[in-house]
Amino acid sequence: MDTVPDLPSRDWPRMQPGWVWLCGAGPGDPGLLTLHALNALRQADVVVYDALVEPAILDWAPQAEHVYAGKRGGKPSAVQRDISLRLVELARAGKRVLRLKGGDPFVFGRGGEEAQTLVQHDVPIRIIPGISAGIGGLAYAGIPVTHRDVNQSVTFVTGHDQSGMTPQTLDWGAISRGSQVIVIYMGMKHIAQIASDLLAAGRAASEPVAVVTQATTDGQRVLETTLAACADDIAAAGLEPPAIICVGRATLMRQALDWQAQARGEAPRDTDPLDRGRAAESA
Ligand code: SAH
Repeated sequence: MDTVPDLPSRDWPRMQPGWVWLCGAGPGDPGLLTLHALNALRQADVVVYDALVEPAILDWAPQAEHVYAGKRGGKPSAVQRDISLRLVELARAGKRVLRLKGGDPFVFGRGGEEAQTLVQHDVPIRIIPGISAGIGGLAYAGIPVTHRDVNQSVTFVTGHDQSGMTPQTLDWGAISRGSQVIVIYMGMKHIAQIASDLLAAGRAASEPVAVVTQATTDGQRVLETTLAACADDIAAAGLEPPAIICVGRATLMRQALDWQAQARGEAPRDTDPLDRGRAAESA
C-alpha cells in the first residue's frame, strides 16, 4: 500500500511485518479513534481485539484477519499470558499485528504486561494511546473529570484486582481524603463494598454519584444517584457492566452539560448546578 487513503496528508507511520502495534480503540464510539489507530487499521494483517472494542471499528480493517481475545472480569492471568504469547507468534510469523484494546491500552488494560512480554521476546512495538472510558465516557455523559470549582485532583481506581476481589492495596481513607473526584473502573461487582468503604472513610452519604454504562455507544445509560443509594439504585435500574462510576460533585455538572439530551431538544436542567453564580450574587 503506497498511500493510506482518506487520512489528512502526512507522513503516516508504516506498519512493518513482524511488528505489533498496541493501540487504544477508545470507549466505543468509532469517531473517538485516533488517526494513528485508523492508520493502523488500514494496514494491519491481523487485528487482535478485546471484548470492549466496538465491532463497527473492525469494519475499518476489512483486509485483516480479526482475532477475538476477549476476557472479562478478573480471569486468571494464564489467559493473559496466552494472549501475549499469541501476539509474539503472530509477529514471528511476519504479520503486521494490531493489538486493539478498549479505551487506552495502558489504563487498566494490561497493555503494559503485553508490551513487556513482546519486548522480552524481541518483538518491536509501537504504542498508540486511546481515549480512556474514565475520561471520554464521562464526557459523553456531560461530566468533566476536573472542574475548577470542584476538584484539583482526580483518582482513577479499579474495583477489582487479578483475583476478582476489591484490591486490598487500595487505601480508601487516603483516596477519600486526597481526591474530591474518584473514577472507578470495573466497579459494578463490588459497588456495595466500595461505597461502604468510602462512607466509612468519611465521604458523605449524599455525595453525588454517576454511573455510565456502555459509554459513548448507542446503548449508553446514565444513572444519577448518591453514595448511600448507588448500590441499590444500580440493581434496581438493572445496569450491567461495562460501567464507569464517578463519585464527586463534578457529576452535578451533567445537569448543565448533558449535551446529548440537549441535542434531542431538551433544555439544560440547571445551568449553574454548583450554585456558583448564585453564591457570587448573594456575596
Ligand atoms: N483500557 C480501558 C479500561 C479497561 S478495564 C480504558 O482505558 O477505558 C474495563 C473497564 O473499563 C470496564 O469494566 C469499565 O469500567 C470501563 N469501560 C470501558 N469501556 C467502557 C464503556 N464504553 N462504558 C463504560 N465503562 C467502560
